[in-house]
Amino acid sequence: MSEAQKVLLVTGGSRGIGAAVCRLGAQAGYRVAVNYVSNQAAAETVVADIKAGGGEAFAVRGDVGRETDIVAMFGAVDRAFGRLDAFVNNAGIVDVKARVDEMDVARLERMMRINVTGSFLCAREAVKRMSTRHGGRGGAIVNLSSAAARLGAPGEYVDYAASKGAIDTMTIGLAREVVSEGIRVNAVSPGITETEIHASGCQPDRVARMQDLLPMKRAGTSDEVASAVLYLLSDAASYITGAILNVSGGR
Ligand code: NAP
Repeated sequence: MSEAQKVLLVTGGSRGIGAAVCRLGAQAGYRVAVNYVSNQAAAETVVADIKAGGGEAFAVRGDVGRETDIVAMFGAVDRAFGRLDAFVNNAGIVDVKARVDEMDVARLERMMRINVTGSFLCAREAVKRMSTRHGGRGGAIVNLSSAAARLGAPGEYVDYAASKGAIDTMTIGLAREVVSEGIRVNAVSPGITETEIHASGCQPDRVARMQDLLPMKRAGTSDEVASAVLYLLSDAASYITGAILNVSGGR
C-alpha cells in the first residue's frame, strides 16, 4: 500500500539520523513534521529539501525534555495535518565522557529526562492519537535505541547506555500494551553512526578513532539507520512488533 497522505512526526528531525528519516519518509510519500530544539536552520533545510522533491513538510520547535513542549508539538501536527500515522522517537543526547563515579545528579536527571521521560511522553501523545481505543486508525512507532544498551559504554557514558536500556524495555512493554489497538512499536538499535552526536559529547574524532575496531571497519551512515526505521514503519513490517533491530554492522 502506498504511504500517500500518511503523516510522520520525527523528534530531532533536523540533523543526523532524524533528518535522514524525514527525507526517506518524504520519499516514501509521508507528509512530514520535522521537530528540532534549537537548530531551526537545519530543520528548515530538511523541510526545503522535502518540498523541493515535491513533498509536504513543516518544522516544529519543541524540547522533548519539557512536557508542555511535547503536547504543543503534537498539537501543531494535529492542526497542520489532522492525523498521525507514524511516529519516530529519535531525539536523544549523550554527555561528555565520564565514569559513573564522576556523574552528578544534574547530568543524570538531564539524561533521563530527555532520553527516557521525553520518549515516554511522546509515545503517550502518539498512542492517544493512533490507538483504536481512543478512536484512532492505528499506526506505527519506532524508538531509537543504541548498541550501548547491550555494551554498557563503560568509561564513556553508562548513563546514556542505561537510558537506551530503558528504551528497549519500553519498546517491548508498549508494543504488548497496544498490540490489539492497531499500533506496532519497534526499536532500531544503531551502532556507531556518522553524525554530529559525537562532537556534542566532546568527542568529534570518535568515529575516526573507533572505526578500525568495528567489524566492518567503518561506522554506519544515517541513511543506513533510517532505511531500517522506514521499513519498521511500513506495511512490509505488518507482523513485526516489539522487535529491537540492530543496525550496527555486526557489532
Ligand atoms: P544528532 O546528530 O546529535 O542529532 C540530534 C537531533 O536531536 C537534532 O535534530 C537535535 O535538534 C535533536 N534534539 C536534541 N535534543 C533535543 C531535545 N531536547 N528536544 C528535541 N530535539 C532534540 O544525533 P544522532 O546521532 O542523529 O542520534 C539520533 C538518535 O540515534 C539518538 O536517540 C541517539 O541516541 C541514537 N543513536 C545514535 C548513534 C550514533 O552513533 N550517532 C548510535 C546509537 C544511537 P537540533 O538540531 O535543534 O539541535
